[in-house]
Amino acid sequence: MRRFDIALPQSLEDCLKVLADRGPDAKLLAGGTDLLPQMKNGALKPALVVDLSAIGRLRRIDNGQAGLRIGAAVTARELELSPAVRGAYAAIAESAALVGSIQVRNLATLGGNLCNAAPSADMAPPLVALEAQAVIAGPGGERRVPVADFFTGVRKTVLAPNELLVELVVPAPGAHSGGQYLRHTPRRELDIAVVGVASQLAMANGRCAKARISLASVAPTPVRATAAERALEGQVVTADLIERAAALAIEAAKPISDQRGSVEFRTHLVRVLTRRTLTAALARANA
Ligand SMILES: Cc1cc2nc3c(=O)[nH]c(=O)nc-3n(C[C@H](O)[C@H](O)[C@H](O)COP(=O)(O)OP(=O)(O)OC[C@H]3O[C@@H](n4cnc5c(N)ncnc54)[C@H](O)[C@@H]3O)c2cc1C
Repeated sequence: MRRFDIALPQSLEDCLKVLADRGPDAKLLAGGTDLLPQMKNGALKPALVVDLSAIGRLRRIDNGQAGLRIGAAVTARELELSPAVRGAYAAIAESAALVGSIQVRNLATLGGNLCNAAPSADMAPPLVALEAQAVIAGPGGERRVPVADFFTGVRKTVLAPNELLVELVVPAPGAHSGGQYLRHTPRRELDIAVVGVASQLAMANGRCAKARISLASVAPTPVRATAAERALEGQVVTADLIERAAALAIEAAKPISDQRGSVEFRTHLVRVLTRRTLTAALARANA
């Protein structure tokens, strides 16, 4: 590995100063489970590594009536175990629980998962389905971007070199809402999603008031299955309608064939996982 400097800012303001000075040469370090392998294999050669571990604001989970605020450096393990997240935001906890192994999850952060921007990132689809916003800090202050618009390509995001992701703001889904995240992997442990699907439903007076479906690993960035969402909204949700929505979800998927799965297999998985997550989301919303 090439030699590099290390900075350990004690506050968000200090971190922004470091990035203002050396942003283009720097990489931020959260859990390091994506960054360190990329530095070891030579894909990334930052002259400066900025360790985020001393910035308290990045490590908080705040659950309020309006919603949930999750600091970018909260770990997957914390999300998996948090009673607040497991309750109304079950799909987030489920996605966190699927990341790597317990050892990986003790290090891996939500912010790192999003900022690494792999198409297979497990924690992205539930945030898209829950209409979460990313809070980004930079030299001009803070700005908010819907997580759905945070990704611009494979390993690319809207972040500038002098910015960092501070937290995720997830609006409270409200009563009679439910969601689920499922993925398929060829191996049970330590594998990445061939397809991942998050579904979120809000019910009112026996009908679907809002449907959000987000797919991973079938395009360069997470995508919403908007045709399937439209088919559900305003309707009484039956098994037949869920099947129709699952078929429509395929329209949003633009998968590739690789060693983990063919286009045909991924397309089939989109349909199966959309059906399963919608069925679970409905049961949770009606519970
Ligand atoms: C064995 C193994 C298994 C894995 N399994 C899975 C899996 O099942 N599912 C899955 O989705 N991922 C998996 N991963 C990938 C990885 O663990 C996750 O993506 C993890 O959430 C990354 O978080 P991190 O804190 O380790 O990020 P880091 O490696 O610290 O950072 C990742 C990237 O994000 C940037 N970054 C980090 N925090 C910020 C911030 N606040 N603002 C701006 N940029 C930031 C870094 O500069 C870097 O470019 C696995 C990795 C390993 C090694």
